[in-house]
Amino acid sequence: MTSTVEPLVAVVTTDLSAITRGRSVVESKLQKIAATGVGWLQANLALTPFNSVIDPNPWGSSGDLRLVPDLNARFRTALTGSATPFDMVAGNIVELDGSPWLGCTRTMLRDALAELKAATGVSVIAAFEHEFNIADANLAPGHSLSFAALRRADPFAPNLMAALEEAGVAPEVVIAEFGNEQFEVTHEPADALVAADRAVAIREITREVARNAGWRASFAPKPAPDAIGNGVHIHFSFVDEAGKPATYDPARPGGLSNWAGAFCAGVLRHLPAITAMTAASVSSYYRLKPHSWSSSYTWLADRDREASLRICPTVTIAGRDPARQYNVEYRAADATGNPYLSLAAIVRAGLEGLKAKLPTPPLVSGDPTLMSEAERAKLGLVRLPETLPAALDALTADRTVTGWFAPIFVETFVGLKRHETERLAGLDPASVCNLYRTLY
Ligand code: GLU
Ligand code: MG
Repeated sequence: MTSTVEPLVAVVTTDLSAITRGRSVVESKLQKIAATGVGWLQANLALTPFNSVIDPNPWGSSGDLRLVPDLNARFRTALTGSATPFDMVAGNIVELDGSPWLGCTRTMLRDALAELKAATGVSVIAAFEHEFNIADANLAPGHSLSFAALRRADPFAPNLMAALEEAGVAPEVVIAEFGNEQFEVTHEPADALVAADRAVAIREITREVARNAGWRASFAPKPAPDAIGNGVHIHFSFVDEAGKPATYDPARPGGLSNWAGAFCAGVLRHLPAITAMTAASVSSYYRLKPHSWSSSYTWLADRDREASLRICPTVTIAGRDPARQYNVEYRAADATGNPYLSLAAIVRAGLEGLKAKLPTPPLVSGDPTLMSEAERAKLGLVRLPETLPAALDALTADRTVTGWFAPIFVETFVGLKRHETERLAGLDPASVCNLYRTLY
């Protein structure tokens, strides 16, 4: 008689340190638990990336929740090289009576998108572009962006693409990036909630495929203080109720519609505060520096990779329609930020810009570091926070941004990040980067 092991499926949530956690059941039980989910608890939101809970923990030791799988957000593939399939379903955290829980970041994104839609009729299409390093692989030195640099890691890249494809992530392109042992993978744009689910799946599947090659994939924002950073570039565009593109207007500067311009103005206005969420670790701020193609000022530009908001290129080859491709990229993010929270913050900030009918920010060209203070002020260029504590100060000072969340949620987020800062206070930047490389 042969017996086979029944594979597991995990119901997961991603926390404020961007760690994906959850509980697993045997696959045949998924339908049974689909309505009521698996157990979860409030205090889990106070977990640090160091396997501790912050003290004081605003949630205490009592209370229970349910983590309910969204069966549309299931990512399953037998191609990661593991003994059993990778099988993960993103869930929403609810109270025991099924009402939404105020600490669920997936629900926050869903609500932000619903509010934008109710106010404007518009939906967000998004894509997360991930950069990461492969460590422990003893890869021979490779040329940036080269064919050989990808091939030297073979079969990592084809295995990764096959696993992502089978999981339903709809991967687009994989490259050997500019940095040493650095790679990048993109996926097709999708409804914003789907895109954030895909971001979680991409991180986990990439780690698993690398692990099965005997390597470690790391999405840490800076592998070393002077190394090329790993960004997460969040692309967004809008469609109206009929599904027609609503971001592009060829008559306006950079092709940015008046409407999308107000959205971008809202994002830039609140950028110093929301950076704490999108670039959420101590080492994130080693990346957010001028001249590193990341982000450093509140800056919208047409196709400039130094800008925080970059209008991306469109292609007109063979009569392609720019309106459908046209999108804006938010570059001040990395993988220590929770993808749901990051995108929710961008959407909420954009909605503020729409509500206030803000004018489209100027499209800046040139190097802000070479401008005078007065020139920068005229263009509205503000330096982004240069450390995590400074970002937390900017967050708590922006009452509009803190007002999007329940006070206990803000308290938990800020408490976690201050704890992280204090814990690393004695380490030099190289040691901080080393630590994050193992954590992310
Ligand atoms: N590695 C850069 C970053 O930290 C991005 C380079 C690129 O434009 O792809 O965001
Ligand atoms: Mg890149």
